Amino acid sequence: MKAVLLRGFGQPLTLEELAVPQPLADEVLVKVHACGVCHSDLHLAEGDWDLLKDMTKLPLVLGHEVVGVVDSVGENVTSLRAGDRVGVPWLHWTCGKCEYCREGREVLCSKQTITGVTVDGGYAEFLKAKAEYCAKIPANLESAATAPLLCAGLTAYRALKQSGLAAGQRLTVYGIGGLGHLAIQIGKAKGAVVSAVDIEEAKLELAKECGADWTGREKPERAHVAIVTAANVKAYETALKGLKKGGTLMVVGMPAEPFPVSAVRMVSGEYRIMGSAVGTRQDLRELLELAAEGQVRCRHEVRPLAEAGAALEELKRNRVSGRLVLQAG
Ligand SMILES: [Zn+2]
Ligand SMILES: [Zn+2]
Repeated sequence: MKAVLLRGFGQPLTLEELAVPQPLADEVLVKVHACGVCHSDLHLAEGDWDLLKDMTKLPLVLGHEVVGVVDSVGENVTSLRAGDRVGVPWLHWTCGKCEYCREGREVLCSKQTITGVTVDGGYAEFLKAKAEYCAKIPANLESAATAPLLCAGLTAYRALKQSGLAAGQRLTVYGIGGLGHLAIQIGKAKGAVVSAVDIEEAKLELAKECGADWTGREKPERAHVAIVTAANVKAYETALKGLKKGGTLMVVGMPAEPFPVSAVRMVSGEYRIMGSAVGTRQDLRELLELAAEGQVRCRHEVRPLAEAGAALEELKRNRVSGRLVLQAG
């Protein structure tokens, strides 16, 4: 099969011919229809994050926003059959036994393995995945438009779920990229009044298309919830200032440097700052339902699998509107 390989941090991706992986007893072999290109892929390829760098398999097939069709199943798999269309997310496997797994917070499992990080991902014609961690894709959803929901959409969905955002409340989304434009739609689906902040006019246009009630470069009306999807310290500072008292800042975008927080302001306004990491299988099922109802749709452009390296480069230069999705020719 054709696969795009990362052979070392900071090295260009190479298109290579690899053996089709063999599924273990609890795994399925998936023929990839589409794989989204996530900002994390860029950081992984460049070795930017120490935490993940140490656990990254090399050489590695990147990609954790995968939609494809089950080609064959391992001998113990009963939940899926050949021909089922599935999504393969970031979370490849969790232990199921630790306190986090038992409490339904499997994203915190310290034994977790990760698609396209600790095991090969979807920048390939095939990948294998744990059957129990694959999500069935509703029949009315197109593969390329759905792939980015597996990480970008899921991350936005869980963050807004955790924020406690309620109908009628104000949400401000900072950074209208792959994740941000989905956060706007999820916010609207929850009945919130949504403001979108970005420094680029084209991204504000996208925000309007996604149903944002207000768009601009700064200072929307104060929000009950702010979500920062940009890896930008300045965006965090602005977001904190743009909260109503008692408001919640959701931390999703990951700048390398810390952002400043005033304890005095935190106390006087009873603000909450909360991180959110991708999503659980339950979160994913809920999001796919929303998508099947037509409430969330990822704007995307398709690129050939062989051009994965160029796609990462486009992302790095911030030239992407919505999401890039790779498809093998
Ligand atoms: Zn991702
Ligand atoms: Zn666990």
